[in-house]
Amino acid sequence: MINILPDSVANQIAAGEVVDRPASAVKELLENALDAGATEIQLIIKDAGRSLIQVIDNGSGMSDSDARLCFERHATSKIKRAEDLFDIHTMGFRGEALASIAAVAQVEMKTRLHDEELGSQVIIEGSDVKEQNPCTCSPGTSIAVKNLFFNIPARRNFLKKDSIELSHIEEVFRRVALPNYNVAFSFHHNGKLLYDLKGGNFAQRIASIFGNNFSARLYHIEEQTEPVSLFGYVGKEEYVKKVRGEQYLFVNGRFIKHLGLSAAIEKAYNELIPERTYPSYFVLLSVDPSRIDINIHPTKTEVRFIDEHVIFAILRAATKKALGQFSLATELEFNPSPDLNFDPVPKGYTPPAPTVSINPNYNPFYNSGQHGSSTPSQKSIQSQLRNFWNDGSDSDGDDIGGGSGGDSDSDSDSAPAKMPSSGASSLPGEASRQTAHDDSYATTLNATQNPPFQYAARYVITTLKSGVVVIDQHRAHQRILYERLMARREAAQPSSQQLLFPVNCRFNSSDSELLAEITPDLQKLGFAIATLGQNTFVVTATPPDVHPDDIQPLLEQTLADHKSNMLQRHSDGDRSICLSLARHMAIPAGKVLKPQEMQQLIADLFSCQVPDQSPSGQRIMFIITEQDIAEKMR
Ligand code: ADP
Ligand code: MG
Repeated sequence: MINILPDSVANQIAAGEVVDRPASAVKELLENALDAGATEIQLIIKDAGRSLIQVIDNGSGMSDSDARLCFERHATSKIKRAEDLFDIHTMGFRGEALASIAAVAQVEMKTRLHDEELGSQVIIEGSDVKEQNPCTCSPGTSIAVKNLFFNIPARRNFLKKDSIELSHIEEVFRRVALPNYNVAFSFHHNGKLLYDLKGGNFAQRIASIFGNNFSARLYHIEEQTEPVSLFGYVGKEEYVKKVRGEQYLFVNGRFIKHLGLSAAIEKAYNELIPERTYPSYFVLLSVDPSRIDINIHPTKTEVRFIDEHVIFAILRAATKKALGQFSLATELEFNPSPDLNFDPVPKGYTPPAPTVSINPNYNPFYNSGQHGSSTPSQKSIQSQLRNFWNDGSDSDGDDIGGGSGGDSDSDSDSAPAKMPSSGASSLPGEASRQTAHDDSYATTLNATQNPPFQYAARYVITTLKSGVVVIDQHRAHQRILYERLMARREAAQPSSQQLLFPVNCRFNSSDSELLAEITPDLQKLGFAIATLGQNTFVVTATPPDVHPDDIQPLLEQTLADHKSNMLQRHSDGDRSICLSLARHMAIPAGKVLKPQEMQQLIADLFSCQVPDQSPSGQRIMFIITEQDIAEKMR
């Protein structure tokens, strides 16, 4: 027995496809406003969209009859014939959104054409038109969607908590606002202004959403070709993230997800960034609408391109060009690592010529007596390291430097070019540990070391008595920073550097809440952070190793890590924060180091408690012994 479903039921079912949560209603309403040619759009939300979603625009408005018709299914002014599907210049075209929204909410719309005196008000609940009256209102359209899913309790109960629904709405808002940078948008939630975006250019729009210093982290890309013209920004290598965060790809003004094209961008970074890190990007593609198919998915973030291969190649090439043109080569020549975490060597300072020296009483681990309580793993590392220097013999260091010949009284000269950065360890405990170790380490290293050199811009290679040691610079620095941060955390008075100019940082509202939550932990590590309201924070002090320009990205990345830790439920408070800070502050792979910087890195690494493992458990170094080499030579 076949029944034809009543419209209200059919609409409810169809609505499920289009409107599955408040954010999707927001998307449809914002897109309608853009399609109507609005230049100013206000979004007003209450209770994360549960009780109110309102969009007010100054677009074309609708006539009396359209005001009624627009809530019918398949009511659209945007296409007329099937062929039009291949020439879509609007965001919407299915004529389903308003019908779907009206099926699952109480909707109140006021709309007025620009050359009419009066507008039209329509009230519709669960597809039922309750009222239509002439009304006074400004030209354009205002649609208020109240009590979403009031008639589908199951759906309503499935909504996530407000902070999650709100972050979905924010993401939708960003995806719509980014490519429409010439349109002004505002966004209020529960009476609070979250975003106030003026019309401007793309870079300004990115900055006003993601924070002012954001554009300094991007390279510009642009390419005009036959199948595609593209324009936008890709992130500098040093600002990659552990999570795919700010990756925005748009086609003809529409946000899309496209694995192939995202891969095109990421592939351009290939060797430049550590594995499992992801660049940010904001790329606008324009493609002839007849060469794409946006019709394959109801919520339309997936798109098919006829010229996918060509577009892939062009996108990758354009990204590579941006990276090559403005990064590696130029940075090396003209901009010698300004943001290394080491302080610069003072002007006019010439590093002393390496001399050979011997400290006959030196034993790298047993001379200071400060680490008596080593853990088992530490012990094994220590004996391993001892072997590195001692050629496996268990003597207490007599033969360190043996064979290299030379005088033994040039201790001070032989210290690796000392950079003021070791003064960064201004902690009482840390300082004394360093003095206890410093000279002897320096001596030891110099005694046996050839000058370190860098390979593939990510490994520091040097020799020890027992072989050639290959050190992963990023992981090594992570370890060093992590131990410093952990020590600071335990100190009664964390050391910090006062900033000459306080730095303002802006975040989206969910990040702001999170930042407020972890502020006490950050304070323990030497940050001084205060909120200025409106999602803005001022930072007046940081731990010693942080460059002011890096503060905003560092905090963002820490928040991103914190979020993913919370999701995976393995956050362990301030330890994970130390871990995350260390990870993001550490010299990246791909950074070319000066000889002194390598020396310092090696010295600092070997004064760590666990020098051979990064804080997240990855291997930092390995040794190639003479025997290994001999075997290979066979
Ligand atoms: P679609 O956008 O796919 O055409 P919708 O259900 O979203 O379908 O909208 C139906 C129609 O209502 C649109 O085609 C448009 O003519 C009209 N409309 C919707 N929102 C607005 C608005 N904000 N301003 C002017 N017209 C609108
Ligand atoms: Mg629409």
